[in-house]
Amino acid sequence: MEVLKNLLGESRFVSDKEKLVPYGSDYTEDLFFRPDAVAFPKTTIEVQAIVNYCYQHNIPITPRGAGTGLSGGSLPVKGGISICFEKMNKILSFDNDNFQITVEPGVINQEIRDFVESKGLFYPPDPASKGSSFIGGNIAHNSGGPRAVKYGVTRDWVLNLEVVLPNGEIIWTGSNTLKNSTGYNLTQLMIGSEGTLGIITKAVLKLISKPIQNLLLWCPFEKMEKACEAVPAIMSSGLVPSALEIMEKKGVDLSIAHTDASLSTEENHKAYLLIELDGSSQEKLMSQAEELFETLEPFEPGEVQLADSANQKENFWKIRRSIGEVVKRESIYKEEDTVVPRAKLPQLYNGVKEIGEKYGFDSICYGHAGDGNLHVNILKGNMINEHWQGKHLEKGIREIFQLCKSLGGTISGEHGIGYVQKKFMNEVFPEHHLQLFKSIKRVFDPKMLLNPNKIID
Ligand SMILES: Cc1cc2nc3c(=O)[nH]c(=O)nc-3n(C[C@H](O)[C@H](O)[C@H](O)COP(=O)(O)OP(=O)(O)OC[C@H]3O[C@@H](n4cnc5c(N)ncnc54)[C@H](O)[C@@H]3O)c2cc1C
Repeated sequence: MEVLKNLLGESRFVSDKEKLVPYGSDYTEDLFFRPDAVAFPKTTIEVQAIVNYCYQHNIPITPRGAGTGLSGGSLPVKGGISICFEKMNKILSFDNDNFQITVEPGVINQEIRDFVESKGLFYPPDPASKGSSFIGGNIAHNSGGPRAVKYGVTRDWVLNLEVVLPNGEIIWTGSNTLKNSTGYNLTQLMIGSEGTLGIITKAVLKLISKPIQNLLLWCPFEKMEKACEAVPAIMSSGLVPSALEIMEKKGVDLSIAHTDASLSTEENHKAYLLIELDGSSQEKLMSQAEELFETLEPFEPGEVQLADSANQKENFWKIRRSIGEVVKRESIYKEEDTVVPRAKLPQLYNGVKEIGEKYGFDSICYGHAGDGNLHVNILKGNMINEHWQGKHLEKGIREIFQLCKSLGGTISGEHGIGYVQKKFMNEVFPEHHLQLFKSIKRVFDPKMLLNPNKIID
């Protein structure tokens, strides 16, 4: 490893045990795996040199973004070297004529948004972690977020990627064009591959004109089922919300308790929808809001609040975005990223609660209702360690995933499989399908050194 220390310098190649601690965990539960060293490259050529060295010496490599992942993807479970992209954080070029931007993997999602918005353009994918997560992590996880319901997920906005392969070769996966029918689509294969097939060192992203107006509505309901049932009704009314989020009261209460966001909630309201409409004319949006009220009526919402200022919008969004983090302060939890066709949300929600009763766990549910993507935060609460860590809870989670599958859904909508969900992959894929995944992995990474033990064993 001296070679790498000499290449990067002491400040960018860290092997001091104490200094490695922050790189041993991410946002996933309370898991910790210390890497043997962390490298902080500044260029693709430095990444290539690290990868070449690891390839020659059979050292595992784990790519790491901001460490906000919820499936343990950036945990160095086999030790070795973590490559952290916080110093590859430059916006490299902006193409105003073609609505494109080229960035390094360590640029924070929000920085991209702010930059392009200052030019009148828009990069839609906005995971709730947009203030801290890196674009490289977003691409590796194919992250979604509230705006996915109208604009799609990260994979819909990536045109081309520069990738360092596990043997040190460098490729561009596609072209900077809106259309491309040339060979296998390696861009799309890399997106969502969770750093197991290659290391993203540059990304060309697609942009659109920024929607200039939006309306945000906060809608309370007496029952979560009613809120869930309203979702397909909204979508089939002809309206196209730019966000359609759902929250259980318990999550909202925690957000209010642990942040400076404010809202007076009523005891009889057990669930909320946060609905955003965007476009170019405020007048048209107001008439869409009228239609929305009519669509919601059969589901008996409480008093709908229309955010009347930028501060109020930020306040509502803060309540929603903070839930993931504040739940962690309440209890150790496991987060399941369930997704079903959106009209099946009521069955999914009810089923999760029934399974919780059967296995003795409480849960807080919230998420991207318009996409049928319900985050189920299972709280440890008073569950004994033996049940929490052992087969008891695993059985309950497996039942949740079986339910997802029976409803036409799957086990992760946006957080990925990483380290913690791979044992459940056999619930959604038969053995021959898993073998195909393994064969793809072997083609890219015959020595199994890149982010080992993730997605599949
Ligand atoms: C409060 C909170 C809210 C969240 N909200 C959302 C949400 O709304 N939607 C959503 O989809 N997710 C959400 N997440 C999950 C998480 O933020 C996303 O998965 C995010 O994209 C991870 O980015 P990161 O930079 O933190 O990556 P990390 O967690 O560091 O890594 C994630 C994966 O990417 C790989 N990786 C990182 N960089 C590279 C690279 N350059 N090349 C190859 N592989 C790489 C890692 O190996 C790992 O497998 C949330 C998380 C938190 C804590």
